[in-house]
Amino acid sequence: MSTSEYFNSGRQVDITVSSLPDRFEAVPNKVNKSSTSTRNSGRQVDITEPSLPDRSDTSDREIKYMLAAYEMAQHAFDDGEVPVGAVIVRNDEIIAKGRNRREKEKNALLHAEIDAINNACKALGGWRLWNCEIYVTLEPCPMCAGAIINAHIPKVFFGAYDFKNGSCGSVTNLFEMPYNFKPECAGGIMADECSELLKSFFKRLR
Ligand SMILES: [Zn+2]
Repeated sequence: MSTSEYFNSGRQVDITVSSLPDRFEAVPNKVNKSSTSTRNSGRQVDITEPSLPDRSDTSDREIKYMLAAYEMAQHAFDDGEVPVGAVIVRNDEIIAKGRNRREKEKNALLHAEIDAINNACKALGGWRLWNCEIYVTLEPCPMCAGAIINAHIPKVFFGAYDFKNGSCGSVTNLFEMPYNFKPECAGGIMADECSELLKSFFKRLR
């Protein structure tokens, strides 16, 4: 499957909202629960379940940039931070790098993606990261998926899945929701290496 085929294979979540929620009363989205869809595995799933991007035919190009993100994760590891790294690529060139810096900077916001987006905005002199791709070793959390949407980064590649906090398919998929910008996303690139690094970090802590 080619990259474009992969990116075009994502299904749309069928969500219809009959009205905007009242200011003081939460009104849940009306979700069509009767529809079903078939995943790659062939099993029937409720369409409300977020789809999990899976990359089984990783290209050399994706490996090259994921390796650069992995290197940033290793720097985080050496610095005693949870090892997550990210790079932002534009016109086949890495324009910014980032890594988790929460402990050192004592800042809950300093995930690898936020660090990389900050550096990319500085490098490009603007907040719109059009024509950019982000490679990150761990599936983005809701904060970082939101930052990616707000920075208008059109393509996202991630490594390990985060079944507790991942918001690109694991817990939910913010990129399938009807926000004003929908990045394309591929996950599972060097997933084993990226998750092994995380596991060895937490093993070392114990
Ligand atoms: Zn995050």
